[in-house]
Amino acid sequence: GIRNLSDLKKVAVLGHGNGGTVYKVHHKKNHSFYALKVLRFNDNSIGIHEPSIVLEAEILKRVDSPFIVKCHAVFGNDNCTEADNGDDLSFVMEYMEGGSLHDVLREKYRLPEEVISLLAKRVLEGLNYLHGMHIVHRDIKPSNLLVNDKGELKIADFGVSHIVEGRFDASELNAGTCAYMSPERVDPERWGGENVDEFAGDVWSMGVVMLECFLGYFPLIGPGQRPDWATLMCAICFGEKLEMPEKASPEFQNFVRRCVEKDWRKRATVKELLQHPFLNRKCFCITKGLGDYVIHE
Ligand code: ADP
Ligand code: MG
Repeated sequence: GIRNLSDLKKVAVLGHGNGGTVYKVHHKKNHSFYALKVLRFNDNSIGIHEPSIVLEAEILKRVDSPFIVKCHAVFGNDNCTEADNGDDLSFVMEYMEGGSLHDVLREKYRLPEEVISLLAKRVLEGLNYLHGMHIVHRDIKPSNLLVNDKGELKIADFGVSHIVEGRFDASELNAGTCAYMSPERVDPERWGGENVDEFAGDVWSMGVVMLECFLGYFPLIGPGQRPDWATLMCAICFGEKLEMPEKASPEFQNFVRRCVEKDWRKRATVKELLQHPFLNRKCFCITKGLGDYVIHE
């Protein structure tokens, strides 16, 4: 196990995000690489007591699945009452050599259906696991889906996730990244209704991501457009049904259509999608070779 933060040496920055930095670190004793996500708090910003941060730590400690990025240790403190290493909270995670799907798309631009099929299957398995533990991810998007050297994709970043307990709380709707948000989260008045199934929002986001992988651009607005909040909101809530690309196979078109159904009541569930014919095909995976991403069997 990893007992001491001081055994880890930072070797590179992997990413910056909301309130944190992710480093590639080298363990001086076992000579392995890990990813270290550090959330830093200064006096007037959110603190270690912030419920969302406690929750991210709590969720990471609970989940254990081949489809979710593994968290080996949490430093800061154990019960999140007082930070002992300054005001930081750090997560030691398995290192995903291939970076995120966002990095993959930036380089490869588009992915063939054989790869998308495998990615979709892994995201669905991950969501199936999380939803079974009553956890909604709420931020499924390319930069939160990571790939490793074996070509495996795993879900990461529980920064805005939520544990569903009993009744649905409408005030919780607006956490997360807007671009991949479902209509019922963007505009609960119009698309929500009674007893919204929160898990359906993750399905929507996954569908948008898979379509983006096929098209090479964010599908809700045309290529090359700058997505501001108003444009996005209109596209999500008032736009026509998403056109499926003609070049896509009928199975893929149907798969995506079942995910991006605006009415969450009609949207496919994770369990239904796991049985979808689009997933029953020969798959290829993607890994990062010496600098470049390569697709192989
Ligand atoms: P944030 O809450 O800031 O979005 P993330 O957990 O999504 O934090 O991490 C930000 C970025 O850092 C990711 O998009 C990815 O590029 C990189 N990253 C995060 N975790 C890992 C990891 N385990 N292995 C490799 N890269 C990672
Ligand atoms: Mg992220």
